[in-house]
Amino acid sequence: MKDGGRKQGALSPCAACKLLRRRCALDCIFAPYFPADESHKFASVHKVFGASNVNKLLQELPEHQRSDAVSSMVYEANARVRDPVYGCVGAISSLQQQINSLQTELAVAQAEVVHMRMRQFTPNSDTSNVDMVADQSNIGESLWSC
Ligand SMILES: [Zn+2]
Repeated sequence: MKDGGRKQGALSPCAACKLLRRRCALDCIFAPYFPADESHKFASVHKVFGASNVNKLLQELPEHQRSDAVSSMVYEANARVRDPVYGCVGAISSLQQQINSLQTELAVAQAEVVHMRMRQFTPNSDTSNVDMVADQSNIGESLWSC
Protein backbone atom coordinates (compact mmCIF):
# COMPACT_ATOMS: atom_id res chain seq x y z
CA MET A 1 0.00 0.00 0.00
CA LYS A 2 1.22 3.46 -0.87
CA ASP A 3 0.97 6.02 1.88
CA GLY A 4 2.95 8.65 0.01
CA GLY A 5 5.22 9.34 2.94
CA ARG A 6 2.33 10.41 5.14
CA LYS A 7 2.56 9.29 8.69
CA GLN A 8 -1.13 9.04 9.56
CA GLY A 9 -3.66 9.99 6.91
CA ALA A 10 -5.21 13.41 7.41
CA LEU A 11 -3.01 14.27 10.38
CA SER A 12 -0.24 15.52 8.07
CA PRO A 13 -1.62 16.78 4.76
CA CYS A 14 0.45 16.47 1.57
CA ALA A 15 2.14 19.59 0.20
CA ALA A 16 -0.71 20.15 -2.28
CA CYS A 17 -3.54 20.00 0.27
CA LYS A 18 -1.56 22.13 2.67
CA LEU A 19 -1.12 24.86 0.07
CA LEU A 20 -4.73 24.58 -1.12
CA ARG A 21 -5.92 24.56 2.53
CA ARG A 22 -8.08 21.49 2.11
CA ARG A 23 -8.39 18.21 3.93
CA CYS A 24 -5.99 15.57 2.61
CA ALA A 25 -8.11 12.49 1.97
CA LEU A 26 -6.63 9.01 2.25
CA ASP A 27 -6.98 8.60 -1.52
CA CYS A 28 -5.61 12.10 -2.29
CA ILE A 29 -4.23 11.97 -5.84
CA PHE A 30 -1.42 14.43 -4.99
CA ALA A 31 -0.20 12.79 -1.79
CA PRO A 32 2.11 10.12 -3.33
CA TYR A 33 3.89 12.70 -5.49
CA PHE A 34 3.90 15.84 -3.38
CA PRO A 35 5.02 14.90 0.13
CA ALA A 36 4.70 17.53 2.85
CA ASP A 37 8.47 18.01 3.14
CA GLU A 38 8.77 19.05 -0.54
CA SER A 39 6.29 21.92 -0.59
CA HIS A 40 8.27 23.92 -3.19
CA LYS A 41 7.53 21.24 -5.83
CA PHE A 42 3.78 21.70 -5.66
CA ALA A 43 4.07 25.46 -5.24
CA SER A 44 5.76 25.93 -8.63
CA VAL A 45 3.59 23.34 -10.41
CA HIS A 46 0.46 25.03 -9.03
CA LYS A 47 1.73 28.47 -10.03
CA VAL A 48 2.44 27.44 -13.63
CA PHE A 49 -0.17 24.78 -14.44
CA GLY A 50 -2.83 25.26 -11.77
CA ALA A 51 -3.83 22.60 -9.26
CA SER A 52 -7.00 21.54 -11.09
CA ASN A 53 -5.12 20.98 -14.35
CA VAL A 54 -2.49 18.91 -12.56
CA ASN A 55 -5.29 16.95 -10.88
CA LYS A 56 -7.02 16.34 -14.23
CA LEU A 57 -3.79 15.31 -15.93
CA LEU A 58 -2.88 12.84 -13.18
CA GLN A 59 -6.34 11.29 -13.28
CA GLU A 60 -6.09 10.72 -17.02
CA LEU A 61 -2.82 8.81 -16.61
CA PRO A 62 -2.30 5.21 -15.49
CA GLU A 63 -0.78 5.10 -12.02
CA HIS A 64 2.64 3.84 -13.17
CA GLN A 65 3.14 6.94 -15.33
CA ARG A 66 2.06 9.54 -12.79
CA SER A 67 5.40 9.84 -11.02
CA ASP A 68 7.21 10.55 -14.32
CA ALA A 69 4.53 13.07 -15.28
CA VAL A 70 4.96 14.86 -11.95
CA SER A 71 8.77 14.95 -12.38
CA SER A 72 8.47 16.48 -15.85
CA MET A 73 5.81 18.98 -14.72
CA VAL A 74 8.01 20.05 -11.80
CA TYR A 75 10.96 20.44 -14.17
CA GLU A 76 8.92 22.44 -16.66
CA ALA A 77 7.35 24.59 -13.96
CA ASN A 78 10.72 25.42 -12.38
CA ALA A 79 12.13 26.32 -15.80
CA ARG A 80 9.09 28.53 -16.47
CA VAL A 81 9.49 30.27 -13.11
CA ARG A 82 13.18 30.94 -13.84
CA ASP A 83 12.56 32.01 -17.43
CA PRO A 84 8.96 33.22 -17.89
CA VAL A 85 9.39 33.79 -21.62
CA TYR A 86 11.07 30.61 -22.86
CA GLY A 87 10.77 28.13 -19.98
CA CYS A 88 12.58 24.88 -20.75
CA VAL A 89 12.58 25.76 -24.45
CA GLY A 90 15.27 28.29 -23.45
CA ALA A 91 17.48 25.48 -22.17
CA ILE A 92 16.77 23.31 -25.23
CA SER A 93 17.60 26.04 -27.73
CA SER A 94 20.75 27.08 -25.90
CA LEU A 95 21.89 23.43 -25.95
CA GLN A 96 21.05 23.23 -29.66
CA GLN A 97 23.17 26.31 -30.28
CA GLN A 98 26.02 24.67 -28.36
CA ILE A 99 25.68 21.53 -30.50
CA ASN A 100 25.72 23.60 -33.70
CA SER A 101 28.81 25.57 -32.72
CA LEU A 102 30.62 22.42 -31.51
CA GLN A 103 29.75 20.64 -34.77
CA THR A 104 31.17 23.58 -36.69
CA GLU A 105 34.30 23.53 -34.52
CA LEU A 106 34.65 19.78 -35.08
CA ALA A 107 34.24 20.13 -38.85
CA VAL A 108 36.93 22.84 -38.91
CA ALA A 109 39.28 20.66 -36.82
CA GLN A 110 38.65 17.62 -39.05
CA ALA A 111 39.30 19.70 -42.17
CA GLU A 112 42.52 20.93 -40.58
CA VAL A 113 43.62 17.35 -39.86
CA VAL A 114 42.92 16.30 -43.44
CA HIS A 115 44.72 19.37 -44.74
CA MET A 116 47.80 18.70 -42.55
CA ARG A 117 47.95 15.04 -43.60
CA MET A 118 47.63 15.95 -47.26
CA ARG A 119 50.51 18.40 -46.90
CA GLN A 120 52.55 15.82 -45.02
CA PHE A 121 52.07 13.10 -47.62
CA THR A 122 51.94 15.00 -50.89
CA PRO A 123 55.72 15.20 -51.59
CA ASN A 124 56.19 11.40 -51.86
CA SER A 125 53.04 10.47 -53.78
CA ASP A 126 52.20 7.51 -51.50
CA THR A 127 48.59 6.62 -52.28
CA SER A 128 48.06 4.30 -49.30
CA ASN A 129 48.47 7.24 -46.89
CA VAL A 130 45.90 9.30 -48.78
CA ASP A 131 43.46 6.39 -48.49
CA MET A 132 44.03 6.36 -44.73
CA VAL A 133 43.14 10.07 -44.50
CA ALA A 134 39.94 9.47 -46.46
CA ASP A 135 38.97 6.56 -44.18
CA GLN A 136 39.39 8.63 -41.05
CA SER A 137 37.23 11.47 -42.29
CA ASN A 138 34.51 8.89 -42.99
CA ILE A 139 34.71 7.71 -39.39
CA GLY A 140 34.16 11.29 -38.26
CA GLU A 141 31.07 11.61 -40.41
CA SER A 142 29.51 8.34 -39.30
CA LEU A 143 29.68 9.50 -35.68
CA TRP A 144 27.17 12.24 -36.49
CA SER A 145 24.92 10.26 -38.79
CA CYS A 146 23.76 7.80 -36.14
ZN1 LIG B 1 -3.37 15.68 -0.27
